[in-house]
Amino acid sequence: MIVKPEPWMKQGACSGMDAAMFFPELGEHGDEAKQVCAVCPVQSDCLDYAVQIEDLHGIWAGLTYSARRTEQKRRGILNVPGTQIECSECGELFTIAGKNASRQRACSNACKIHRSRRLKYKEITV
Ligand code: SF4
Ligand SMILES: [Zn+2]
Repeated sequence: MIVKPEPWMKQGACSGMDAAMFFPELGEHGDEAKQVCAVCPVQSDCLDYAVQIEDLHGIWAGLTYSARRTEQKRRGILNVPGTQIECSECGELFTIAGKNASRQRACSNACKIHRSRRLKYKEITV
């Protein structure tokens, strides 16, 4: 996912910091990053921005991916049909649709097969 720069980002407490802190390894909670976000002057801008983008990785506004999904659900914007998301396999943008829209992560049958194999064999854990 390529993040489009927004004017408020320059005022973020994370500006100029090592970005790796905001992308914790599996099993880590990113506590250091959350502490930075807790005192950030643009935290609410950051949160509003981050919940609009599906499949955005790392910690934004002090929230992990799963915490952002909870916030998206609370706001009623969690993967509603018609949302464009990035395919987890090929990276192409596609529009989710239908009853199970909130669970769609791959753009095509080929990508769905690739994803299920990848998850099954734990090549990457997302
Ligand atoms: S809330 Fe956190 S991630 Fe967002 S701009 Fe501030 S420090 Fe950076
Ligand atoms: Zn794809």
